[in-house]
Amino acid sequence: MSDTILVINAGSSSIKFQLFAIAPEKQLDRRLRGQIEGIGTRPRLVASDATGQRVIDKVWGTDEVGELHHALDRLVVFLREYVGRLPVAVGHRVVHGGPEFIEPTLLNSRVLDHLQRFVPLAPLHQPNNLAPIRIVLERQPHLLQVACFDTAFHRHHSEIADRYAIPDRFYREGVRRYGFHGLSYEYIASRIPQVAPEIGDHRVVVAHLGSGASMCAQQGGKSIESSMGFTALDGLPMGTRPGQIDAGVVLYLMNEKGMSVKDVEHFLYNDCGLKGLSGISNDVRDLLSSVDPRAKLALDYFAYRIALFGGMLATALGGIDGLVFTAGIGENAPAIRRAVVARMSCFGIELSETANGKNQLRISSDASRVGCYVVPTDEELMIARHTLQMLQMQKMPKEKRA
Ligand code: ADP
Repeated sequence: MSDTILVINAGSSSIKFQLFAIAPEKQLDRRLRGQIEGIGTRPRLVASDATGQRVIDKVWGTDEVGELHHALDRLVVFLREYVGRLPVAVGHRVVHGGPEFIEPTLLNSRVLDHLQRFVPLAPLHQPNNLAPIRIVLERQPHLLQVACFDTAFHRHHSEIADRYAIPDRFYREGVRRYGFHGLSYEYIASRIPQVAPEIGDHRVVVAHLGSGASMCAQQGGKSIESSMGFTALDGLPMGTRPGQIDAGVVLYLMNEKGMSVKDVEHFLYNDCGLKGLSGISNDVRDLLSSVDPRAKLALDYFAYRIALFGGMLATALGGIDGLVFTAGIGENAPAIRRAVVARMSCFGIELSETANGKNQLRISSDASRVGCYVVPTDEELMIARHTLQMLQMQKMPKEKRA
């Protein structure tokens, strides 16, 4: 096989990975996708090739694969066997780049130490994202590693979009409206000129609706505003997170209900959103197939809030020419898109029922003033592209590098 790039998205108990071959025209060709899950409980490596065919499904005991570095070792053994050699570079998804990291960055121990400083800004994700980087740096110090940030695409927001109305000293120490899902939005921005050139230079609102959900206002392919803020708790309701919530509710939980900081954190990340509201499930598929009125309430609430944020982002853009749905729910749930668009009809958006029902690319009717689209996202490909670019840059003589 030709040279490959490994993309890693590491969570608390799993490592998701994809492997891309660098094809002759410097195209990226997806060869594998898989994950090691249950690290510390029931470690299992599964991976499929580009056709979806399972190429490995292996379970270990926790005495063999109890920690992250054991899991990475197993992954390396598998890749060596499957590909014949190690990847030439590794691209990592890193949730937080803080105020400074505004683009993909080559990793070394100095950069890693710097990224470690953002752990308080994303305590549940950042440590997991950084752990495999450190292990690879220790074991393969010469292997090129690139950090790709969920925050970077939003780092050119205006100051007014970037601030909370709190004293300046907090802004200076990093309490800012960062915005997340940036790799997804960047990928969508790169696809729009190809799949929907009619809205390419215009005012576009993108709704990334997965188990985490947010929206982004884009003008000419650049992010100018986001529904998410300091953390990935803000904005839209999500599978288990409430989205925008009055800070007074948090004070109430602590003052009146005696909840600790840890209790509140767990509550906001795990017990709220669609799950909390419905009392049934965090999964939109379950709620769509339920006849329970609480499921209907949760889905109505979800669509209502998406439409409200759509209006807010349209204001940030001074109008709206395109609305794009993406991620698990955005790509696959016609009923949610229908409910959102019905609430946004005042903007001149109207769906084609047939196109929407089939998850087609363009789902707006011919009469719609605003183009409405379903564009599948691909965050891993975006990471692989950035990593390839960095690899090419490293091969250039120093004076030619940007
Ligand atoms: P993640 O944020 O975990 O990457 P995804 O973008 O894969 O999430 O989205 C996962 C969510 O997408 C699931 O929780 C489920 O609610 C929703 N989903 C996936 N497939 C469908 C479907 N066919 N219909 C409705 N919702 C779906």
